[in-house]
Amino acid sequence: MLTIDQDRLLSEIDALARITAVEPPAVTRIVFTPADLKARAWMRARCEDAGLRVREDAVGNTFARWEGSHRAAPAVGTGSHIDAIPNAGKYDGVVGVLGGLEAIRALRQSGFRPRSSIELLIFTAEEPTRFGVGCLGSRLLSGTLTADAAGRLTDSDGATLEIVRREAGFGGDLERVTLTDCYYKAFIELHIEQGPLLERQQIPLGIVTKIASPASLRVLVEGSGGHAGGVLMPDRRDALCAAAELILAIETAARTSGAIDTVATVGICDVFPGAVNSIPGRVRLSVDIRDTDLQRRDIVMRAIEAASHSISAKRQVSINSELLNADAPADCSPAIIEALSQSCRKHELNFLPMVSRPYHDSLFIARIAPVAMLFTPCRSGYSHRPDEYAAPEDIVRGTLVLAETLAALSE
Ligand SMILES: [Zn+2]
Repeated sequence: MLTIDQDRLLSEIDALARITAVEPPAVTRIVFTPADLKARAWMRARCEDAGLRVREDAVGNTFARWEGSHRAAPAVGTGSHIDAIPNAGKYDGVVGVLGGLEAIRALRQSGFRPRSSIELLIFTAEEPTRFGVGCLGSRLLSGTLTADAAGRLTDSDGATLEIVRREAGFGGDLERVTLTDCYYKAFIELHIEQGPLLERQQIPLGIVTKIASPASLRVLVEGSGGHAGGVLMPDRRDALCAAAELILAIETAARTSGAIDTVATVGICDVFPGAVNSIPGRVRLSVDIRDTDLQRRDIVMRAIEAASHSISAKRQVSINSELLNADAPADCSPAIIEALSQSCRKHELNFLPMVSRPYHDSLFIARIAPVAMLFTPCRSGYSHRPDEYAAPEDIVRGTLVLAETLAALSE
């Protein structure tokens, strides 16, 4: 009989939320800052208390292992992240880490003995806050990011990851972080949905079938500045007007892709010099394009490129795009999806097959192992803000289904 200890799980979620660089209830835990290091030490102690063997790799990814009877066999993994963007809430990532730990404790207490080892994995820096790259730990684990490129990443103070991680106590060789593709036989990430669909449809669990992934561009539009009174309209090469056209073209490209899964966002628009009486001479945009289908996403990217050319020619401005990343979307494993579904059916829990629009560490682990994700509802779909909320019963249901599925996969 599998029992999830709701009180212990919730009190641990609260305790972890109190380890923050800002005034609670807001949670800020940026990778390798004192709050993050304190949270890591706290997590390590929880894992050791649970009887798990803990190891950390050179970038601080933390593995807590329950050894199975078949030690040499690939492990069944679960986990998520505990780093948090500035002014975040207490559930993003944490539900998957503490839920994963509780799932393992519940299985141990039930007398279950795994054949394949079951391992909790706490990823380093899922959030891009410090080094500008999301899913740093899982990119390295999956070989998506090379050790060299990772080591050279810098934070806003110009400190390299290589220096910062060593100062945080993580030495060793970044080259050795990569896992082989027979390390995990399956990996499941439990996570709050970070969207409104489950709550809206009053469905307690979401089983993710595909993880969408972003392509990010940095676009620089350069025209010609000048005095807002002195330069007459026919003579202008206003960078912001050109950028405005481009932003609308980006929206149109996503809206007309033919699929609801295509989204495109311009989240940053920096205007230079940014004065009321000065014509904008330069504009920097950030563009984030996501889809579950790589081909469709690439069509949108080509449409944006074509729009850049025509706007640039028409308005006599230069438009340069730099591709920051273009990760491929991932499909979840049908076998793990089926195992999760079976557990839901056993408990008569309704579930929604769904797409994960935010991306997660599982997107990268999918390159080296079969993965799936289990979503729990969150209030109003809010996430990355202090009033992020997930109901106790939803967290417990997710943890129960996770535990059963880990057990089934480790037989
Ligand atoms: Zn997350």
